[in-house]
Parts: sequence; C-alpha cells; structure tokens
Amino acid sequence: MNIEQGTTYHNPNEGDADNSKKSFRQRRPLYCCLIMFVFLLLVVFVALAKHFGDTAPKCNGRGCNRPDPYSTMALTKEDGTEYISSVNFPSDMETSIKDACDMVGKFFGFPTNTKVFMWEYNGPSSAYSDIEAKCGDFVGESCDGEAQAKQGGQYYVSGTRDNCVCNKATYTGSPVHFFPSGGDTATSAAERAVHEYTHAFQKSRGGPQPNWMMEGGAVFNECLFQERLDSNVKFSDCFLSGGGGGGIVRKTRELYLTNPTTKWFSIFSTDRCCGDECPPAISFPPPGDKERIYYYDIGAFAVAFLLHRSGKGPVEFWTKTSGYWNNPNMVWPGIDTTDGWAIDCPEGEGWKGVMSNMLGGETVAEFYSAFEDFMVDSDGNVVSEADMLAILQSDSDAHAASLVLADFDAADYDTTDRGPGECSAFEDLFSKVNLV
Ligand SMILES: [Zn+2]
Repeated sequence: MNIEQGTTYHNPNEGDADNSKKSFRQRRPLYCCLIMFVFLLLVVFVALAKHFGDTAPKCNGRGCNRPDPYSTMALTKEDGTEYISSVNFPSDMETSIKDACDMVGKFFGFPTNTKVFMWEYNGPSSAYSDIEAKCGDFVGESCDGEAQAKQGGQYYVSGTRDNCVCNKATYTGSPVHFFPSGGDTATSAAERAVHEYTHAFQKSRGGPQPNWMMEGGAVFNECLFQERLDSNVKFSDCFLSGGGGGGIVRKTRELYLTNPTTKWFSIFSTDRCCGDECPPAISFPPPGDKERIYYYDIGAFAVAFLLHRSGKGPVEFWTKTSGYWNNPNMVWPGIDTTDGWAIDCPEGEGWKGVMSNMLGGETVAEFYSAFEDFMVDSDGNVVSEADMLAILQSDSDAHAASLVLADFDAADYDTTDRGPGECSAFEDLFSKVNLV
C-alpha cells in the first residue's frame, strides 16, 4: 500500500463494507502519523539547514585570503615544526631558516601543525618529487612546487584543505613555503623566515584580521629581529630603509606626499582585493606597485604607531592577553567568509575590540583618524622622516624585547587555540557536506 491509497478516504464508496478498505481505515492513523512525522522531520531539517546556512560562516569562501574566524592551532613551548627540503636545498640556507623560525618561535611560542617547505631554486625535477608528495599530504591537494621553484623568489604561508570544523571556517595548519631566488643568501632567507613564521603564528590566533596587521606585523618583526640577524643593522635603520619594500618610513611618507589629502591607510590598508574582488571602500583594484606599500610599509608603521599610542611594547603586543595577538577575544564569528571583509567587524568586537582594549577604550575609527592626523597636519604638510622615527622604541629597547622568551607559565599568556569548540553531531554532518 502506498500513500496514493490514502486518498480513498474521500472516496464516495467509503461507507462500503469492503474488507480491504476497512483494514486501511483501521490502519490509517498509523500511516498519517508516519507521513506527518516524515514531513515534520523534513521541515525541521530545512529550518536547521537554513539557520546554519544563515548564521554560521560557510566553510567555503573567497578564493584568496579567506577571512577565517577560527583556528585550531595552539601554541607550544617545544618546537613541533616539521622541516621538509628538496634534495639539493643549500644547507647553509636551510640552517638559517630553521634558526630564524626557532628564534621567533621562542619569542611568541611555536604554532602547532606547522610545516616548513624549502624548495631549491631551479633544480632538476627529481629533486622535488619527495617534497611535492609531502606537501600534497599536508595541504590535501597536489603541490606543483617545481614550477614555482624554477622561478624562485616567492615566500608565503597558505592553508590546508582541511578547513571546515563544526561547519565553521577554520584555519587548521600552516604550510610555510620558501622558494628562494638565485640571488638569495642565508641572511636574506632568514629575514624571510622571520616574516613567514610570524604569519604561521598569526594564523593560530583567530580572526578575521586586517591585512595591514598581518603584513605590517610580519614586517615589523623583520625589523625587531634584524639586529639579531645582522648586528650592524638596528631597529630604526630597518624602519628607515629596510623591511617591506625598501624603507618602511620612506615608502609610507612617499605615498602620502603623492597626494596628502588621500587617507591612504584608512581607505586601502585594512582589506586586500582578491583579484578583481574588492571591498566596498576600494572601488578599483589598487595599482600593483602601490599595493605593497598599503599593507607592508604603511602596515608596519601603523603597528609602530599602535605601540606608540597604546604605550605598550612589542612583548605585550605579541604575547600578552592585554596586548593584541594573544587576546582570546579575537574571534569574530559574524564574518561572511565569501563576501565579507575584516572592516565589517563592528567596533568593540573581534580585532576591533581587541585593539580598542589595547588602546584603553579608543575606537578603531578614532585610531585610524589619529594615524591620518599624524601623517598629514591640518595645513596639509606630510610628517617628516625624523618625526616618524621619533615614535619608535629606542634601538636598545627593541633589541632587548627581541631577546625575551615567551613565558608559558605567566597568567597573561594564552596558549590555547581559537577553535570553534565543541561540535554537535549536526554541525559535524554539515562540515562534511560543506567539504564536498
Ligand atoms: Zn607576508
């Protein structure tokens, strides 16, 4: 008997003393209940699906720089980083990369599930088969590193495909890639390592993050640790003519001089276009030659300005719950991982709340405004190099900060991950659906 027969209930012959009909009528309540139950289940399922679809960040998202709110990476005292190199990767460069990662890892803690891949420049195909396989295992899709290694000169942290936890967009591991160019040296590779390993750490602390804080933070650390890599170059030397694209202070100032009425930091530095996909504040993809300045140079100077304005030093900024990066309130689950941008985060929430806390209650909008006022005075004059350098910590203070080791026993140091926490069976099911 199928559901169609249920319609016989309204058949004019209903009153007939027909055995089969009688038996149907006798069983009717059971069928009705079953049908209604299935229907109700369907309604509940659709409602829940809609609820999760509407409120939870989707695991899929923008093609590049997806703004992940969560991270399952914690911090550890012992270095669990795995290093994988192609067959002929120069041993002096490999040592300098490991030492540099170790140096910054001891400063802010070692992020878990981090693997460093070192690809030699322009080697034979056979040199890459093992590293490509190991990279593929880690990221969850094939790694064609050979093509990039032939070109060289690229360094980046990407992500793994295992990025959906409890149906929430989650960063779960850091693949750190080094593709040195033919001109790279052991020292230049170490500088890149400080930058990239900082990204691995940053990715463990939750988000979304403004792009200037990611890139500017990594460039700031290039300068903070510069003297430890080369004793002849001090923190302020790096800020004036090194770091980023060849002079954080100079490049930032040069850009403001091209048009002092444009609020370069406020408009361009928070979010970064993904191809032609740009945040609403940026109606056009910024020219490539300036893009580097928005995030790397202005970003690093904005980090220095944040420290100056908050009166806090690099150790607190990176490693204390009262600073920026180690504050456990960083996660803002409201971000739309497909169409949203870090700037969407409301004042007082996520990274904006964390920054305000660091600034003693000042809003992020007020901080941005103060930065613009610092760069260009009310008469339209761009700040001098000397005045920009004057807000930096002294070289000796910066060097002393770079020698401090993460204090794992301190109450204001938080090693926990920024994951979505307990996951219901339903959320788990949706994670799997989402991954398909
Ligand atoms: Zn970077």
